[in-house]
Amino acid sequence: RAKDKGRDQYDFYTESLNNRAEQLMTLERELRHGLRREEFFLLFQPQVDLNTGDITAMEALIRWQHPERGEILPDEFIPVAEDTGLIMPLGNWVLQQACMQIKLLHQLLGRGVRVAVNISARQFRDPGLENVIDFALRTSGLEPRFLEIDIHEGMLSDEPEVARDQLARIRRTGVTITIDDFGTGFSSLRQLRSLPIDMLKIGQTFVKEIPEDGPNTDIATTIIGIAQQMEKQVVAEGVETEQQEYFLRMHGCSLVQGYRYASPMSFDELYRYFSDDSERELKA
Ligand code: C2E
Ligand code: MG
Ligand code: MG
Repeated sequence: RAKDKGRDQYDFYTESLNNRAEQLMTLERELRHGLRREEFFLLFQPQVDLNTGDITAMEALIRWQHPERGEILPDEFIPVAEDTGLIMPLGNWVLQQACMQIKLLHQLLGRGVRVAVNISARQFRDPGLENVIDFALRTSGLEPRFLEIDIHEGMLSDEPEVARDQLARIRRTGVTITIDDFGTGFSSLRQLRSLPIDMLKIGQTFVKEIPEDGPNTDIATTIIGIAQQMEKQVVAEGVETEQQEYFLRMHGCSLVQGYRYASPMSFDELYRYFSDDSERELKA
């Protein structure tokens, strides 16, 4: 009996491994189809300046409207797109769409606002990234200062020299560069100082524990301090509570993003959000 049981478990184990491999292959095939059939879309999450109440930017966040499984979040498919190389066409699509849609929003609103686009590790390693960004800007007509490129801190640590050159090339296009989830990638301060960047983003893991006294609270205040010393802007993401807002404001971080202010929303919702906002401003 015991032997049978052991064998069953073994079979189960190999079966689940095969399932995992199969699942990944299916996902890859579906991603390919999804790209062709345009099953992807962007949501936008506003970033707010607590001092002025202004919307300073919004972050483009990809979603996949799967024909059978419904809406799928990026954490589920971006890693597979990254491993298979499909991130290249997908990432180009995101850049192009974000620029086009935000240009349209500018035309509708009669004023500009920045859009942040997430770039994956593979895209960041591509020597042609500068041209891809430039192409998206030129074909959409979006002014470079309205495009922000979000780069995960972890992508800078492998080959710091190469990363610095790439950042410099990207910045030549005139866009803003933000280090996303700063504090998770162990880049040295000396290295950081030499990087051509504009902003640091405090990841939600560090924001989550505010204001309880703990190591993550210390990290949040440390990041704000580093940004201030380097004269970079700093923005906190994943802000959900009044206490977190109070804490961040007290420590000199007035740029925030999170469910407390607005969830990621569709283009239509975004347009309405801005329209209501300008009404509020007119009334004030
Ligand atoms: P991220 O760039 O750090 O984006 C922030 C994530 O936090 C988003 O998740 C957003 O929906 C979520 N969020 C916003 N406010 C709150 C809050 O108050 N509380 C909590 N708990 N979460 C909040 P999402 O949209 O699922 O995206 C996850 C990650 O996927 C992103 O993390 C980013 O790394 C990646 N991603 C999203 N879109 C793209 C894309 O177009 N290209 C690439 N390469 N990666 C993307
Ligand atoms: Mg981001
Ligand atoms: Mg982040």
